Amino acid sequence: MEITTEIKKLSDRINALEESATIGMAKKARELASQGIDVVNLSFGEPDFQTPQHIKDAAIKAIQDGFTFYTPVSGIPDLRTAIVNKLKRDNQLDYKPENIVVSTGAKQSIANALLCLVNEGDEVIIYAPYWVSYSELVKLAGGKAVLLEGSLENDFKANIQQLKDAITERTKVIMFSSPCNPTGTVFSKNELKEIAEVVVAHENIYVLADEIYEFINFGEPHVSIASFEGMKERTAVINGMSKGFAMTGWRLGYMAAPVWLANACDKLQGQVTSGTSSISQKAGVAALNGDLQPTYDMTKAFLRRRDLVYKMLLDIPGIKTNLPKGAFYFFPDVSSYFGKTDGKVVIKDAMDLSMYILNEAHVSTVTGEAFGASDYIRLSFAASDEALTKALTSIKTALLKLK
Ligand code: PMP
Ligand code: GLU
Repeated sequence: MEITTEIKKLSDRINALEESATIGMAKKARELASQGIDVVNLSFGEPDFQTPQHIKDAAIKAIQDGFTFYTPVSGIPDLRTAIVNKLKRDNQLDYKPENIVVSTGAKQSIANALLCLVNEGDEVIIYAPYWVSYSELVKLAGGKAVLLEGSLENDFKANIQQLKDAITERTKVIMFSSPCNPTGTVFSKNELKEIAEVVVAHENIYVLADEIYEFINFGEPHVSIASFEGMKERTAVINGMSKGFAMTGWRLGYMAAPVWLANACDKLQGQVTSGTSSISQKAGVAALNGDLQPTYDMTKAFLRRRDLVYKMLLDIPGIKTNLPKGAFYFFPDVSSYFGKTDGKVVIKDAMDLSMYILNEAHVSTVTGEAFGASDYIRLSFAASDEALTKALTSIKTALLKLK
């Protein structure tokens, strides 16, 4: 009763918004841990590595130099220049600092771009499974999410005909992450080219290309969709420091986009958060201009862990999975457990299974529903080899109890 009354005080906008499932599960794992239960947290997608020392040193220097004031909304000039140079060096993209908007994480960059592009009722085509916040941010912007469903059988890649069929008069944005959170799928150069050709053939469609896992890529070199003919004018490239440089807590992300869109995001951000932390920005300059070896070393460790978890997952009866080509998640199909029981609880869906694994195996995962795919759960492999071995052993024991 009390809760209903309180909900009525809130806006329809916030009442319609779902809590972030990744953050929600991480919270549950922390609660169990605070009760003294030894939980392996595979629900939260963040590198378990320390930020490289040369990046920390740049931040310490920024503080000692007194670099503690507000910055320009879109970022300090040396960081925007470092981003321009990075986009040239790694992605063969020619941008100018005026194309770049630095934000408090890629999450804010995505929110900025959607709020600046999407009108009430506009359709946003999202390659599914997709990262949890996409559909909710589209909703917040007043748009309608249209899901392009991929499946395990096609490595979670909806085909080009599905894209063509999904486009309507109201389509404004197409969005995806590659490497993908939650599936680890990476679009090939040819697949991106096909998408680009469809986009260019339509006058008013834009792409939001989330490239935050660019460096955590185990196969073909990363390709940005913005690099194809006619696409720079149609793409908001989203990237950031959280994953490749182990800098989740620094809150640093960016967008590269046509000037009209960058200016709009600058205006929006100027009313909402201003620029991100001056200290983080100095650290970001060191990250992008500095030695990339620590980044490559982390990717090597992620690859080793991917292979470790893959072997252990394949050893669990009833689990089906793809082999992630990037990022640090597995997204196995767990539907063969639906309808089974350990004699106490009946597993109806992926949420039940995720809760069962948390309570029984003390491993936190995230239900696939939050990623637009209800037969799956997501496990992060951004944890130590020991923690992963322990987690997968416990998951197997728990799942074998389900009959
Ligand atoms: N995009 C994807 C696909 C992600 O997994 C994340 C991580 N939460 C983000 C964007 C946002 O990252 P951040 O805000 O930490 O830069
Ligand atoms: N990208 C991470 C995840 O998917 C971090 C949590 C979040 O920001 O949602 O778990």
